[in-house]
Amino acid sequence: MKLLFVASECAPFVKTGGLADVIGAVPKSLASMNVSVRVLIPAYPALATVVASGQTVMSFDDLFGGPARIVAAQAEGLDMLLLDAPHLYDRAGNIYLGPDGQDWHDNDLRFAALSYAGAQIGLDGLRGWKPDVINAHDWQAGLVPAYIRQDDRPSPPVVMTIHNIAFQGIFESTRLSALRLNSNLFTKDGVEYFGKISFLKAGLALSHKITTVSPSYAAELLTPEFGMGLDGLLRERHLDLHGILNGIDLDVWNPQTDTSLVATYSVSSLAGKKKNRAELEARFGLSKGDGPLFCVVSRLTSQKGLDMLLDCLPDLVDQGGKLALLGSGDLHLEQAFVDASNRYAGSVGTIIGYDEALSHLIQGGSDAILIPSRFEPCGLTQLYGLRYGTLPIVARTGGLADTVIDANDAALHSECATGIQFAPINAIMFSHAISRTCELYAKPKIWTKMMRRAMRHPVGWDQSAVAYLDVYNSAQER
Ligand code: ADP
Repeated sequence: MKLLFVASECAPFVKTGGLADVIGAVPKSLASMNVSVRVLIPAYPALATVVASGQTVMSFDDLFGGPARIVAAQAEGLDMLLLDAPHLYDRAGNIYLGPDGQDWHDNDLRFAALSYAGAQIGLDGLRGWKPDVINAHDWQAGLVPAYIRQDDRPSPPVVMTIHNIAFQGIFESTRLSALRLNSNLFTKDGVEYFGKISFLKAGLALSHKITTVSPSYAAELLTPEFGMGLDGLLRERHLDLHGILNGIDLDVWNPQTDTSLVATYSVSSLAGKKKNRAELEARFGLSKGDGPLFCVVSRLTSQKGLDMLLDCLPDLVDQGGKLALLGSGDLHLEQAFVDASNRYAGSVGTIIGYDEALSHLIQGGSDAILIPSRFEPCGLTQLYGLRYGTLPIVARTGGLADTVIDANDAALHSECATGIQFAPINAIMFSHAISRTCELYAKPKIWTKMMRRAMRHPVGWDQSAVAYLDVYNSAQER
């Protein structure tokens, strides 16, 4: 099977969150099942050297305001297709936001262009290579099936994957012709969303199949609370909606080989973890102690629920816990954690920023990772936590609920617990979960057993890749 991924980011080239990790990892596991995946992403400046190593395979005289081309290149074990359109993507800084922290003013054109290029590959093929299925990821690729629908030629089916329904790509209806969308698509069954244009809604309405990144999130999306305005459409299409759990790249995230750690370790030899903890304590200005070292690696937004952590800090510190937090996002949350590290100097350490290598060291050196998300489509940091024996303390929602087994009495007794879950999702229950963690940590035998069990928990892509293949096959049958 030949598959085209269309997405706005892909690790290790360009990453702002979990989407990139998934796009960079799935093709490798599908390859072992005889599926060849080519990944179309914009040629942002970070990809300049990869672009230089590639070959032009498609050209556009005018792609939403300037000439563009698609460059094919192999890099990092991936078969990349890079949309080189300098007028849209050759900009320093964040791939979605301008220097003022606001969305780039022309994000509609930037990602319409990506979708348009994906659709053209599906319709025309690339020098003899034509995808059997297109998998469009998140709103940035949502218009792929719209552009295909506007063309009469035979075309491959489109599978739309929701990584986070909170981001929907909504723009004014006056942009219809600038986006090269036919007015007959501006309907309830097409791109129209309460009088505006929604890229994600278009993708969900016009694709053949829909997937999202965990079974629990798939169920949650059907409710008004989590569906964020698209639950009605998803309820109509629930037979086409599949929740497939994300995995992680087991080569990139491997405590036995990770070069970002000061000491590697494994299930059978955990000693290295202590050295990583010592390094973390030094990096975050934490004093040594006997309590658990908690960590956070996250975007700092209201979705991630870290405002609740601020309320829990006095209790966490009182019980001998320490916190190392790496994150960036909302300015007031950034400031609040910087203030907390001053107030609880030696017990709370904050580093504001985005640092891939440090995120690995944090997973390697911490005892537990805190993920109190208000909603979480899948979440990847709890999976890294499991793999690194850093027990996840998670809100019971979405993919967090699907991947962490709570250390309640029954689970401890039957030896299957891998972390701690809490619900309902509020600061009181979160604080209670932190206390339970401190109590468990004080029982080294039980704690070490849980660590080892967590590290053995399957978090790769094998099973999920099979599930994706099923969806691609059934999309082709439609
Ligand atoms: P989301 O995609 O909603 O941000 P996920 O848990 O799915 O959440 O994925 C987040 C990814 O981004 C993980 O790989 C995590 O390690 C990484 N990450 C988040 N914040 C940072 C940061 N400040 N520095 C380095 N990596 C980060």
